[in-house]
Amino acid sequence: MIRSVLALLDIRPAYTAMLAEGHDLHRYDLLADKQKFLDEMGDQIRAVVTSARFGVPEDLLAQLPNLEVITSFGVGHDVFDLKALRDRGIRLSTTPDVLTDDVADTAIMLMHATLRQLVLGDDWVRSGKWAAKGPMALTRSVRGKKLGIVGLGRIGQAIASRAMPSGVEVGYFGRSKKDVEYRFFDDLTALATWSDILVLSCPGGAATNGIVNEAVLKALGKDGVVINIARGSVIDELALIRALQQGLVAGAGLDVFENEPDIDPAFAKLDNVVLYPHLASGTVETRDAMGQLVVDNLDAWDERRELITPLV
Ligand code: NAP
Repeated sequence: MIRSVLALLDIRPAYTAMLAEGHDLHRYDLLADKQKFLDEMGDQIRAVVTSARFGVPEDLLAQLPNLEVITSFGVGHDVFDLKALRDRGIRLSTTPDVLTDDVADTAIMLMHATLRQLVLGDDWVRSGKWAAKGPMALTRSVRGKKLGIVGLGRIGQAIASRAMPSGVEVGYFGRSKKDVEYRFFDDLTALATWSDILVLSCPGGAATNGIVNEAVLKALGKDGVVINIARGSVIDELALIRALQQGLVAGAGLDVFENEPDIDPAFAKLDNVVLYPHLASGTVETRDAMGQLVVDNLDAWDERRELITPLV
């Protein structure tokens, strides 16, 4: 049976083409008159393809009465109302694991780039300051530092195992103590007090909204560094900007922001930050693997098999 599927974006051209094979695929983002389409077709849509960025807006969800499954490109689920999906019996799959390595690599990259001031160093060379002014000021070593991880899940654990060979000690904060060798903190401020480098790898959403606040940043201290590959919402961004401006913390390496892509312009004026455009999973290899997993989840639903990577 050919089922109607609504895609809210082009996940990757080759994988969107695969979705179109065997489905009546509609590209919602390309529709000129979205409401007309929903009025005529809304009750025929059985599956939605979306991403961790777009989710499925509430008003759209309400106009898809026969929706059975959402396959999302990405692992973040803060954009979804999981309870509402459960209440309606709508299944949700995400794309965990296949992006873990690249996201963890990005955290490590931002950690080194922030402590070793890679962006300033690059400018020092390009701009001719090296020749004009001599050597750049010394930077800070990663070796010997205490690395505090907020959310020791798939990505958090991959960050820890990559950081250990650099000579750091690892501690973590989360909802539960894990069976790992790293030191567990049941309080975020206590972890920040202990840490030199605080890495955020927990989910976004209501439970973590603004948990890295002024008190946590103060506890991290003036030599401390924040690395965020989780979600911008996890940090109280104004508090972070103030802390960076006033030297309450030493620096930050950020892949995610509160208001993407129109980030707070104050960040661009700071020379103690390394900024990255939410690209932690943004390699050709990983995005292809994510695309394939979206296709595979939809195939599983088509064949009435269990979803491969269900969240709901
Ligand atoms: P995961 O395996 O589910 O790990 C999440 C971890 O966060 C778990 O250890 C969990 O603890 C912990 N956690 C959950 N709620 C928490 C809370 N309220 N306070 C503190 N810790 C909490 O997920 P993952 O695959 O590692 O992904 C983690 C997050 O990274 C995603 O949700 C997404 O937002 C972000 N991400 C960002 C990018 C990017 O491009 N920058 C890409 C992928 C993912 P328990 O184990 O005790 O439940």
